Amino acid sequence: MLHKDSKTNYTKANSIEALLDVGAQILQQNAISRARLEAEILLGFVLGLQRVELHIFSNNPVESFFVESYFRLLKRRANQEPIEYLIEKVSFYGEELYISYGALIPRPETEILVNKALELIDQKDCKNIVEIGVGSGAISVLLAHLNKSLTKKDSALTLHASDISPEALFIAYVNKVNFKVDNLSLHHSSYLDFNIKMGLKFDLLISNPPYIKNGTLLPKSLAYEPQNALFGGERGDEMLHHIINLAYQNQIPYLLCEMGYDQRESIQTHLKEIPHRALEFYKDLAGLDRGFMVSF
Ligand code: GLN
Repeated sequence: MLHKDSKTNYTKANSIEALLDVGAQILQQNAISRARLEAEILLGFVLGLQRVELHIFSNNPVESFFVESYFRLLKRRANQEPIEYLIEKVSFYGEELYISYGALIPRPETEILVNKALELIDQKDCKNIVEIGVGSGAISVLLAHLNKSLTKKDSALTLHASDISPEALFIAYVNKVNFKVDNLSLHHSSYLDFNIKMGLKFDLLISNPPYIKNGTLLPKSLAYEPQNALFGGERGDEMLHHIINLAYQNQIPYLLCEMGYDQRESIQTHLKEIPHRALEFYKDLAGLDRGFMVSF
């Protein structure tokens, strides 16, 4: 076990390698599956080193100040706090986004939603896009960014996105600035309320709203995420139904949403009442129903 050293009295116990061994052990004992990798991520974060550098300098001693920071992070991670919040970074669609408390951590399955959106933008020539519940900005910022790199010129897209959470909007704003996306406007607003005054026309509405049924027992790590970004109501899909209504009422021709794996039937039933041209569902990588596309 690691003992506290004075700054001048280094021992093998505070070499990078020894700290990684102890960290991996602590995380493993607390059911963190990629324990060694996560210990490396946390120590690398504390020391400002890349993982490969940790190996190059594996015998170097670490000053006690950094050792303490590292152990504080290990303790929080051992309590199932998501590593993304600890290091304020998340990888999404091969890019690194800023993330912090107040926004849902973007999930790998939402990369499929981004792909579906890119397809729609390309095939239907959508130019005016709106997102409800922007959260960290993963979807809108990535769409603007990818569209710019794909077309190799300044994007012809105009994006608007809303969220009720000021904390989430701040995180989305940081990502928008980091990716130099200037064709995305962020609105502190519920649903499309911001547009009552603006009266903009949109051709694609995208949303990954909270869709988990209230009261569902979730893994402990999800307790650190904003609960109002996860739980959607008594059934779970109430917001999805409202978003479908909004797309129809606002004459937005295409709607693309992520949904819960067991909500296909309820979405189908709801759309029986609403005139539309087509409804298509898509699955996630686990083969579960995860989203839908409606054309009106
Ligand atoms: N897919 C997320 C999860 O299972 C939920 C995201 C959401 O409600 N929009 O944690």
